[in-house]
Amino acid sequence: MGETTEESVTIIGSGPAALTAGLYTSRADLEPIMFEGAEAGGQLMITTEVENYPGYPDGTTGPQMIADMRKQAERFGTRLVTADVDRVDFTNGSPFTLWVGDQQIRSRAVIISTGANARFLGLESEQRLLGRGVSACATCDGFFFRDQELVVVGGGDSAMEEALFLTKFASKVTVVHRRDQLRASKIMQDRAFAHDKIEWAWNKVVSDVLGDETVEGVQLEDTHTGERSELACGGFFLAIGHDPATSLFTDQLELDESGYILVDEPTTATSVPGVFAGGDVVDTIYRQAVTAAGQGCKAAIDAERWLEANYGG
Ligand code: NAP
Repeated sequence: MGETTEESVTIIGSGPAALTAGLYTSRADLEPIMFEGAEAGGQLMITTEVENYPGYPDGTTGPQMIADMRKQAERFGTRLVTADVDRVDFTNGSPFTLWVGDQQIRSRAVIISTGANARFLGLESEQRLLGRGVSACATCDGFFFRDQELVVVGGGDSAMEEALFLTKFASKVTVVHRRDQLRASKIMQDRAFAHDKIEWAWNKVVSDVLGDETVEGVQLEDTHTGERSELACGGFFLAIGHDPATSLFTDQLELDESGYILVDEPTTATSVPGVFAGGDVVDTIYRQAVTAAGQGCKAAIDAERWLEANYGG
């Protein structure tokens, strides 16, 4: 049997939401412990340039931003532990039980900021060229593709939104969809159909991303005939959905049908009093580093007030 430790606040996660929650709760003298998982840093670790986070007038990189946020959270005493939480039990209320290897943690409050992962097609070339023309975030990276021909894969609202956004920069955007009907809402479809910079490749899947150093095109495969073709492009954007990292919480918290944690907006309170959630793990809309950080701040303040009300500080 491993040891059991008592904690006031335990944070699960490692991206901007978790690190901001760490910063705020440590400055509130709550001595938070943060389990950042075996692969710390979240989506920013696979983001090259970041130009849209306020406070970095010359831009920065995702890994540098995470390093800066870690330093700031640690400065006030956040304890960062590079390990996965294996199991949680919220069923008996606060204090909650968490297991990390053979260590057991009893924590009065818990903040969850485990994030969400963009879905990828699973191609070797897509991972090799990630950040070099392959992107899963048009808002983040569209700016870098001025006057280029771009490809977006997907047929949902995200794909329409990304394609429309990219028309601001691109000379042409081709949406590649595996069927001949979109999943997107009517209003988003109408907007995309009406745009003269958007073209369509129906019944096609992307079977390869082409290019050695940067993206030069994609290989398409027709879903009916199997026929292969090539489409030149300077950027390839994935918009086939996100998966929230909530497998730990399926029997513990109320989740929506896609697995995102439900919170009592505008707060970060989950269905279990004393458990708070913020960042991409609750956010199906904005998914930005700055919005995640804002939600981490809210979760920290909510946790602090809840502890004060329930444990007298
Ligand atoms: P989504 O609705 O699940 O759509 C994913 C799309 O990607 C589908 O068209 C799907 O094709 C396609 N796809 C999935 N896996 C694929 C694969 N391996 N290869 C090729 N294509 C693949 O996801 P989403 O667009 O991210 O939207 C998620 C939720 O957020 C939705 O409820 C959406 O309405 C909402 N949202 C709303 C807005 C807005 O209103 N402005 C913006 C963004 C998102 P199939 O259609 O064939 O399954």
